[in-house]
Amino acid sequence: MSPSFDCMDLEALTSNAKQIQDDVLKQILTLNANTEYLQRYLHGSSDKEHFKKNVPVITYEDVSPYIERVANGEPSNVITGNSITGFFLSSGTSGGKHKIFPMNNIFFENLLLYKALSSPFVSKYMDGAKREKEMMFGFTRPLSKTPSGLPVSGGVSSFLQSDYFKNQPSELYSSPIDVTLCPDNIHSMYCHLLCGLVQRNEITSMSAYFVSILVRAINFLETHWRELCSNTRYGHVSEWITDQKCRDSVTIILGGPNPELANFIEYECNKKSWQGIIRRLWPKVKFIDCVVTGSMTQYIPTLDFYSNKLPIYSVLYASSESIFGINVDPSSKLEDVSYTCLPNMSYFEFKQIDEENKDDIVDLVNVKLGCYYELLVTNYFGLHRYNIGDILQVTGFYNSTPQFRFIRRKETVLSIQTEITIEEHILKALYHATLVLESSNLMLMGNTCYEDISTNPGHYVFYWELNNKNIDGVELDNKVLVKCCCVMEESLSPLYKTFRSKDGSIGALEIRVVQQGTFDSLMDFFVSKGSSISQYKTPLCIKSSEALTVLEDKVLGRFFSDKCPPL
Ligand code: AMP
Repeated sequence: MSPSFDCMDLEALTSNAKQIQDDVLKQILTLNANTEYLQRYLHGSSDKEHFKKNVPVITYEDVSPYIERVANGEPSNVITGNSITGFFLSSGTSGGKHKIFPMNNIFFENLLLYKALSSPFVSKYMDGAKREKEMMFGFTRPLSKTPSGLPVSGGVSSFLQSDYFKNQPSELYSSPIDVTLCPDNIHSMYCHLLCGLVQRNEITSMSAYFVSILVRAINFLETHWRELCSNTRYGHVSEWITDQKCRDSVTIILGGPNPELANFIEYECNKKSWQGIIRRLWPKVKFIDCVVTGSMTQYIPTLDFYSNKLPIYSVLYASSESIFGINVDPSSKLEDVSYTCLPNMSYFEFKQIDEENKDDIVDLVNVKLGCYYELLVTNYFGLHRYNIGDILQVTGFYNSTPQFRFIRRKETVLSIQTEITIEEHILKALYHATLVLESSNLMLMGNTCYEDISTNPGHYVFYWELNNKNIDGVELDNKVLVKCCCVMEESLSPLYKTFRSKDGSIGALEIRVVQQGTFDSLMDFFVSKGSSISQYKTPLCIKSSEALTVLEDKVLGRFFSDKCPPL
């Protein structure tokens, strides 16, 4: 179905948001009115008011029986008039459970579209310099199949395996496609870095979908640079890279022995401090393209350290359910990044969460500046009024289209009594703790938490992987880590502090420092459970006992706050 507006023109898209949203809904309802799902509520009507009055707002549990039926072989028209050609697997790191979402090629077309729409903003980072190669940390995992034979994979991984990606000019990226498609993610990571090092003078940007992957790439470089140097020196790819296509294409890029380059890499990586290592190894990189908003903000100081504050372009807000919007202001500070909605992607509604008018549902163009909303999506693939569980705040308008800041996931992250500790509280607490760490040259490489109720009273536990800015290895200074515990408690909610300081019904906050590489193991654990590494976001909070075991096995030291936070 071809839309009646020019999708490639951001000005047109954002100037006609109301009309476009109405058109999108009309298209979806006309297409889906006779599906089993909508028929129950709309009896064949495609009228907007009817839709708003009769179709319920749903969560995954409500729609999953329908999705499962299609996955098990019933026709797509159980939920959509479009054909379903596959399923996206959500990363499963926020709620701990994987969900599958129906999709078809429209999603991939939309990914290309967002790339095209954001390209003028990317150019601004180049500051007149010629755009050469992008060092993209892209990873795929083999597609699994539903019982009916339809492919299932993460959205990014599916895209990278589709012709939409494969047909892009290969010279755009430093890694050949065979590296991205290599089924073993460790082999891919090694080869991405090797190709990137060999072409260090042609790389003008670095990218990964989420920042967690870049932190992992730096860790990987730290543990593998000697071997990478040796491969460069002798022009030979390590034998353990067994994927033949990957070997062949990387060997071509190596192009023979290069002792001069090997000496240079060795010289830089051997320096005591890795501050600015990205700029030193890749001198022409102008910016880093990866999502750092929401729970990912905690890694900004780490990336800043390794890149000597290269600009970071947090370009896209999207999920397995829909692409939502892009950042059209490359000059905005990272804490102010907002995403301008792309009104042609899906039909979006917003459920008010502020006390005044709580639970009211409004259209995109009727949201109010400063207000907070839950995002509801009606997409082309069978989701209707689906609450994706994200909370957004309206921060402004681009033409007539609202812009949103990602605030947090909806779920409570931690709770022991009746206190509700949400992502925002935790990120604020981490921010204060990071300042303490910085004063002693430590950096947070990984963080997650859970509520330990096996103790009496229960208490909050944070797992931290740390790195030292200047020397190898980390010395755990009791005073510094206890101070971190205290400043974190001071940043938590008044109710937390009451339970902790007045009733004593919450115990002292604890930091468990884990060995280096633990958060890589955590990522490997989630990937082994089906997550796609390209879409991986370190979970802010751990819900799975198996994942906790991965962390517990690697604890080096435990630290507790030594005083109650003032009320
Ligand atoms: P997935 O479907 O596994 O790709 O996860 C999508 C979720 O990732 C979204 O619902 C958000 O919670 C989060 N997310 C995606 N993009 C961003 C962003 N730009 N900023 C903050 N969180 C994001």
